[in-house]
Amino acid sequence: MFTIAKTEATRGLWPVSKAPLAEPGQGMVRIDVLAAGICGTDYHIYSWDAWSSARVKTPMTIGHEFVGRITAIGEGVSGFSIGERVSAECHIACGACRFCRTGNAHICENTRIIGVDRPGAFAEQVEVPASNLWRVPAAIPDAHAAIFDPVGNAMHMVTSAGVTAKDVLIVGGGPIGLFAAAIAKAHGARTIALQEPNPARAAIARSLDLDLVVNPREPGSVAEILALTRGHGPEVVLEVSGNAAALNAALDIAAPGATFALLGIPAGAVTLDLGAKVVMRGVRLLGITGRRMYETWYQVEAFMLKNPGLMDKVITHILPATEFARGFALMDEGACGKIVLDFANISGGRLQ
Ligand code: NAD
Ligand code: ZN
Repeated sequence: MFTIAKTEATRGLWPVSKAPLAEPGQGMVRIDVLAAGICGTDYHIYSWDAWSSARVKTPMTIGHEFVGRITAIGEGVSGFSIGERVSAECHIACGACRFCRTGNAHICENTRIIGVDRPGAFAEQVEVPASNLWRVPAAIPDAHAAIFDPVGNAMHMVTSAGVTAKDVLIVGGGPIGLFAAAIAKAHGARTIALQEPNPARAAIARSLDLDLVVNPREPGSVAEILALTRGHGPEVVLEVSGNAAALNAALDIAAPGATFALLGIPAGAVTLDLGAKVVMRGVRLLGITGRRMYETWYQVEAFMLKNPGLMDKVITHILPATEFARGFALMDEGACGKIVLDFANISGGRLQ
């Protein structure tokens, strides 16, 4: 079978032909992959940055956002049948630690990640624990179903912050920031401003019909955000750029008492004037990781069923999986929204 793998401990990804997967083990299912999204994490592994080179053991088949059909079921699995279309939560939580046992499996201390710590879904077949499966309603197309995971990151951030009737600023218009904008809109934010320096991405943000899309490098952009928020500044900031200077700039303009949901991962330690900018202004900082299992998945399913048009605006490319290198080159330039790889076409299938 065709797979996309990290075989060398250097920048790049390579096509690798592998034997089909054996019968799945206890509690596991085998899935024929239809489509898979390229995530920022896959891009980190492709770039071989400090995080990925410390974490990923080569050779490793990568990819963790996907949809496919069940083709084999291991011992001890009930409730699923051959042919069902499923996606899966990529964080395999232990189920036994104090976080898992208190409904907080997204911060499980023993998490293993599909496509990072074990073979992933950039392959014609993947094996995953049945406990992580998500059955996909027929009305959700494959390209949407493949990306429950990043839409779930955005959903987790938006629902944790609480945006209804609030003036919201989104810092960063990458795929997750764009999905967050679409979700904040669906959740009834009063106004939504999005900051994004990359013109291709700003154009996608404009297509979502937000109240304001600005380039943070342009001098008038702060005044535009303040005018939109009737002078008081944003009440909710969704930080999805991972850029430390952008976080500091947002703290300077946010309203007192603002909630910051932080999902972007900075490259290193960040310096903040915590006393003046956070403590004395009653600002709340929330770290957001992964998706709540499985509350976020229910929320994403509902969003996808109700807002297929918004999903299609953020997905800018569906490429044959064998052309994955083109997808990563587009990400190098930031000339894309979300990219989905089509694995169905390898065996002559078509995405639904
Ligand atoms: P991305 O890198 O494609 O998007 C980040 C965007 O921020 C880019 O479009 C970039 O142009 C923009 N940006 C850069 N400087 C900016 C500035 N000063 N102001 C505003 N925007 C600026 O990434 P993504 O896939 O959308 O993911 C967003 C972030 O979330 C990344 O940092 C990623 O590592 C992180 N992430 C976190 C989790 C989690 O569970 N916490 C999960 C997935 C991704
Ligand atoms: Zn756990």
